[in-house]
Amino acid sequence: MIASLVLPRLIRTGSGALAEIADLLGRCGVSRPLIITDPTMVQLGYVDRLTGHLADAGIAFGLFDATEPEPTETSVISAEAILASGCEGAAFDGLVALGGGSAIDTAKALAVLGPHGGRMRDYKVPRMVDEPGLPVIAIPTTAGTGSEATRVTVITDPENDEKMLCMGLAFMPVAAILDPDLTLSLPKRVTADTGIDALTHAIEAYVSRKASPFSDQQALAAMRLIAPNLRRAFHDGEDREAREALLIGACFGGIAFSNASVALVHGMSRPIGAFFHVPHGLSNAMLLPAITRWSIPAAPKRYADCARSMGLADEAASDAFSNDALINELRALNEELGVPTPIGFGIAHERWQQLRPLMAEQALASGSPGNNPRVPSADEIIALYDEVWG
Ligand code: NAD
Repeated sequence: MIASLVLPRLIRTGSGALAEIADLLGRCGVSRPLIITDPTMVQLGYVDRLTGHLADAGIAFGLFDATEPEPTETSVISAEAILASGCEGAAFDGLVALGGGSAIDTAKALAVLGPHGGRMRDYKVPRMVDEPGLPVIAIPTTAGTGSEATRVTVITDPENDEKMLCMGLAFMPVAAILDPDLTLSLPKRVTADTGIDALTHAIEAYVSRKASPFSDQQALAAMRLIAPNLRRAFHDGEDREAREALLIGACFGGIAFSNASVALVHGMSRPIGAFFHVPHGLSNAMLLPAITRWSIPAAPKRYADCARSMGLADEAASDAFSNDALINELRALNEELGVPTPIGFGIAHERWQQLRPLMAEQALASGSPGNNPRVPSADEIIALYDEVWG
């Protein structure tokens, strides 16, 4: 099998790595960046830290600080106007995304809309967006989507609430800074949701029909880093060792799924996020135990490897024992991290029932369920939505 691999050109990791932003921009040939971020990053003082480093290096920059969580095309369009206005009489020549997956995905969308125009729906799968866009330097503050190392952006179409999956070389950041200090402020809920998102990326990449020996190693490394550290960071947000392991694990998870794929959990999760405004990691978490249980018969050995990498079973344990250990751990993790069911989240049953066929249709259209070891029909997806309901 020949695997085609795509990665950022440069990654700087470690406590305090944010201070190297000017050097990184220079190496990427960016001299007038537009910063893409959200109001929380401003409040936390992270934007001041970033712009302070730029000012010290004499780098002119612009600022868009109104990205929204789970971005819609509408918020991307308001940033497009600032991108078009330029910087000190010249065009912006790059984007610095500071924030979680939402800020990074907004920057990636702009990187394509800026130079090439059009609407985001023009770029959704199955189209592959390989034409060069503006360079994006990603600084994740969640751990996380791994978006800093994926050739993916997810933008919601405001006209039909579809969470559009957009893929291609144009969406791969040219560089990333992984500074765990920026994740110490993550609230418990976001720590849990984004950590389970990262774990889901690793598991789905490993069991994906598109997995390769390269993505396997990234996925297994991600599970080894995330599994023992997620509870630690959730219970003690100041645990620097756990925060750093999660940030690196999330990046490995991103590399793994970007070079393999995600699968059924993500396919079913995006419509829940779009219709009911459930944060992405949380909707993955709601689905992960049930979808794993349903999928295991098609790839018991692969799921057993996941359990072993997560430290739930030793190498000598049988696949059946390891599979049970995995399902039990995913359920226990949801319990300990306070993941609600859809009913617990406050979703109205009638609307859930009514939307299930459309959600199943959107899930299948994204292509992700086709990468699952067990490929579902629309009716089976509807039955799985029923199972996770409450
Ligand atoms: P997010 O970016 O939406 O952030 C969630 C909340 O946490 C926001 O309010 C944000 O301001 C806050 N926050 C972020 N960092 C913080 C910090 N250090 N301290 C305090 N608060 C902080 O959450 P996310 O889960 O990182 O991103 C979700 C988005 O990413 C979704 O739209 C999802 O579809 C997308 N996604 C993209 C990819 C990809 O490869 N492009 C992969 C997975 C998910």
